[in-house]
Amino acid sequence: MNVEFLGTAGYHPNEQRHTSCVYLAAASANHASDCGFVLDAGTGFFRLCGRALPSQLHIFLSHAHLDHICGLTYLLDVLWQQSCAVTIYGDSQTLQIARTQLYGSPLFSLTLQHATVELTPQQPIEVAGVRVSVFPLAHPGGSLAYRFDWSTRSLAYVTDTCGDGRYIDFIRDVDLLIHERNFANALAHLAAPSGHCASDDVVRAAQESGAKQVAITHINPLQSGDPMDDDDLRACLPNAVGAVDGLMLSF
Ligand SMILES: [Zn+2]
Ligand SMILES: [Zn+2]
Repeated sequence: MNVEFLGTAGYHPNEQRHTSCVYLAAASANHASDCGFVLDAGTGFFRLCGRALPSQLHIFLSHAHLDHICGLTYLLDVLWQQSCAVTIYGDSQTLQIARTQLYGSPLFSLTLQHATVELTPQQPIEVAGVRVSVFPLAHPGGSLAYRFDWSTRSLAYVTDTCGDGRYIDFIRDVDLLIHERNFANALAHLAAPSGHCASDDVVRAAQESGAKQVAITHINPLQSGDPMDDDDLRACLPNAVGAVDGLMLSF
């Protein structure tokens, strides 16, 4: 299965990176259904404009911070001349904000017409044959970690968290862990108050969880270059890669 990184910056875009968006173009567990998964809709979501989309697009939102939801307002163009049904997933607060404070508000001219599905940590659901579970992360305003289990592989998406490790069991032994690392260790003093991770936090989460492959994303947009160059990350996490916009990974 292929994962494509459409946006890998935290907070705001820069010349190299747009904000959070990950795309699985062929995510269905059964070949009968043609569906794609989108993890967060930051500004990187615009990169789906003009692509041939599957007949169903499932958009999973971690939380309502703008670098994760503002791309929902690009749906008009993303869906232009496409025959694609969109469903948006998130916790009740995030969906409510998307419905009433982003769409249907002075911020944007239209109301949200797409289906929404509320997720709770206690109740995993099945989407296109894939088991989808969520875990509440420590972050100002909250954020959801996602775990997707196919019969033969698994993916965890953990973004916008202080990296307190409470979610380690939730992501244990996944084939691919996509984890935020907004700050290099030199800026660790900014990580805790903003609810983000420094390098040491992602190293600990990756090692303790036993993730087979790791992609580091949600990079501080004031940083240029590969985050793997920081803090001895190549040696600490030989199974990790620093995500960049356009990166395609198989797992
Ligand atoms: Zn963010
Ligand atoms: Zn956030």
